[in-house]
Amino acid sequence: MSNPMVKCSVDQCTHYMPGDQCMAAKISVYNDEAQGTSAKPQDTLCKAFHHRKTVGDMIGAFHNANIGGSVTAAFMEGTQITPAVECFVNNCKFWDNGNYCNAEHIHVAGPNAAKTSDTDCETFQSQK
Ligand code: SF4
Ligand code: SF4
Repeated sequence: MSNPMVKCSVDQCTHYMPGDQCMAAKISVYNDEAQGTSAKPQDTLCKAFHHRKTVGDMIGAFHNANIGGSVTAAFMEGTQITPAVECFVNNCKFWDNGNYCNAEHIHVAGPNAAKTSDTDCETFQSQK
């Protein structure tokens, strides 16, 4: 098992932090069900996305917040923090048994995202 560093540019998400960091404790990457099995990055999504303008979502954001002593210390030292990643996109070449992602880094994107399906794992590569 391994856990990639997450870079995220979805600045509409409550978990987003300037510097393209994700403050969630854990994210889950899924196939976008409307698209069926993923064939390209746009068919994947970050299920942990919470739109920052949605009323009540702050509670959900805090519930899944990566806030703790070690994280605070990491911040003070300028160390990059990253969420645990589970992934269900089992036709991606980085996918591993147990819903792990073996990529070193992943990039989550979604300009002006308003819902989870507007987000993508840009690192997705179809298995050959
Ligand atoms: S969209 Fe996903 S990866 Fe990006 S900040 Fe939100 S929870 Fe984190
Ligand atoms: S790179 Fe592939 S395995 Fe890793 S999170 Fe993205 S879709 Fe899942």
